[in-house]
Amino acid sequence: MTPADRANTDDRAFRARERLLASLAIEVTDQRVLATMRAVSRERFVKPGDESYAYEDEPLSIGYGQTISQPFIVAIMTAALALDGTERVLEIGTGSGYQCAILARLAREVVSVEVVPELRARAERVLRDLGCTNVTILPAGDAPGAPERAPFDAIIVTAAAPAIPPSLVAQLADRGRMVIPVGTRAEQDLLLVTRTSTGIEQRSLGGCRFVPLVGPEGFDARPNEH
Ligand code: SAH
Repeated sequence: MTPADRANTDDRAFRARERLLASLAIEVTDQRVLATMRAVSRERFVKPGDESYAYEDEPLSIGYGQTISQPFIVAIMTAALALDGTERVLEIGTGSGYQCAILARLAREVVSVEVVPELRARAERVLRDLGCTNVTILPAGDAPGAPERAPFDAIIVTAAAPAIPPSLVAQLADRGRMVIPVGTRAEQDLLLVTRTSTGIEQRSLGGCRFVPLVGPEGFDARPNEH
């Protein structure tokens, strides 16, 4: 690439990023979330060769049947957690590590769990290269999440569950918030769940489509079961 080609590519990427941010700002008003999404380069997390699509508002394949979430969904899920920088956050489904990098800038500490070892290794490498030092990526254990590291002020589940998993509610601190897609394999409702002293409160943030959460309290590995 000549310096002129490089300048053109950089300019195109800059304009694509600004266009994406402008469209996110229509629905998302949390300025910390918007500033963080401007600051974190999504092209670092997509598959090599897909960089030119990194600022389209679309999910993209990252291999192993998994996807990096659509930026709009990342923005509304993150905003729903109402982070002020003091929190310990749990993510289920590290995937590319993109959502994790956003959370790392907005919270004190992030623990992220990923069931596919290759994705875990790739995300660890990218996050290390970007200098995220407050993130720990763990393999999936016998129960969803990271019960041994609980309680968490916020939990974000980036894979679809058939119901709100009781063992994740148990990992929430009192007044802790969880965003989670709940429904069938084909479509889900994005729920914001708040733990209270007497149980949980929940409200819907709208429809969405995520890859399935596998294992306990998720969908099992057989397709079309639900
Ligand atoms: N947050 C990701 C998108 C993740 S896609 C990003 O920003 O790129 C959902 C991920 O959840 C996949 O990588 C999948 O392997 C993982 N997953 C599915 N079930 C899981 C489980 N029970 N525990 C941990 N990870 C799980």
